[in-house]
Amino acid sequence: MSSTPVLEIRNLNVEYGLGDQAVRAVRDVNLTLHRGEVLGLAGESGSGKSTLAYGMTRLLAPPGVITGGEVIYHPEKGEAYDVLGLSDRHLQAFRWAETAIVFQGAMNSLNPVHKISTQLTDVLRAHRPEMSEAARNARAREMLKLVGIAADRMEAYPHQLSGGMRQRVMIGMALILQPQVVIMDEPTTALDVVMQRQILGQLIELRERLGFSVIFITHDLSLLVEFSNRIAIMYGGRIVEEAAAAAIYKDSLHPYSQGLLGSFPSLRGPRRELTGIPGTPPDLKGMPSGCSFHPRCPKAFEPCSTNIPVLARPDDSPRSVACWLHPVKEPVG
Ligand code: SF4
Repeated sequence: MSSTPVLEIRNLNVEYGLGDQAVRAVRDVNLTLHRGEVLGLAGESGSGKSTLAYGMTRLLAPPGVITGGEVIYHPEKGEAYDVLGLSDRHLQAFRWAETAIVFQGAMNSLNPVHKISTQLTDVLRAHRPEMSEAARNARAREMLKLVGIAADRMEAYPHQLSGGMRQRVMIGMALILQPQVVIMDEPTTALDVVMQRQILGQLIELRERLGFSVIFITHDLSLLVEFSNRIAIMYGGRIVEEAAAAAIYKDSLHPYSQGLLGSFPSLRGPRRELTGIPGTPPDLKGMPSGCSFHPRCPKAFEPCSTNIPVLARPDDSPRSVACWLHPVKEPVG
């Protein structure tokens, strides 16, 4: 993994709705994905993590709107550019060829009336019109093999494959144009835990072999700890902590990260009591004042209900946290 950035999100803001009715779903997010890295993004439902993914790839459906910020993409060759400023034609090429996204429940989005071979080669037909039919078929077979599916399943229909196999096909489809960045939004939530780990393990192997970078989004922090290099935790549309996966697991600083860790069993680590997080996620229409986590925080104290903590480095390590328990040394972003 290198320290060269491949995608830089700068001060990104996303709202749903217009005028007085607008709710801010992503607030001043700064995040960098490095080449070859797996960056985990965790948080409860409604924390803004999927909106962030849809925003950075400009896939937001109305009434979602980007109200500020930049998403700087660094291609392997050539100048960096802001994805938010791309024309529709360039944007289409950017998605799939440079950045691919595997959505929640993607395995159910395969077309039931087309064979797997057709669905894989259609992507190549649209983006690589210069390829011959034979070359497209060979590439599709190669991708299936890479994701652990025998080439003879090329001629199967989606209903003839298990859920795990359909999800592998979707991952193969995402990788078929060799993108630099793959965004996985809850890619394995619909599968059992053993299958989840098998597929994610395989994805990490592929990443090592093919060299792409991954943004992996899930509410399950224990999965991220296992499969990510670095983790960013979101709450109420903001990043509240960002650190190496090992640091989050052993010594998370933000009480919300600690609560998330206490909400999921670890398959490999020692047994521990699940504590969960009291209360419910904030309503974006009426965010609590100060630190938006303060109504649920077991460690809240005097400044928390009135002052918003900024994401800052509490020491010289490359980690950052937005919490009044940790004095600001160097604000981030
Ligand atoms: Fe808890 Fe205060 Fe830290 Fe927010 S700023 S997480 S309320 S201690």
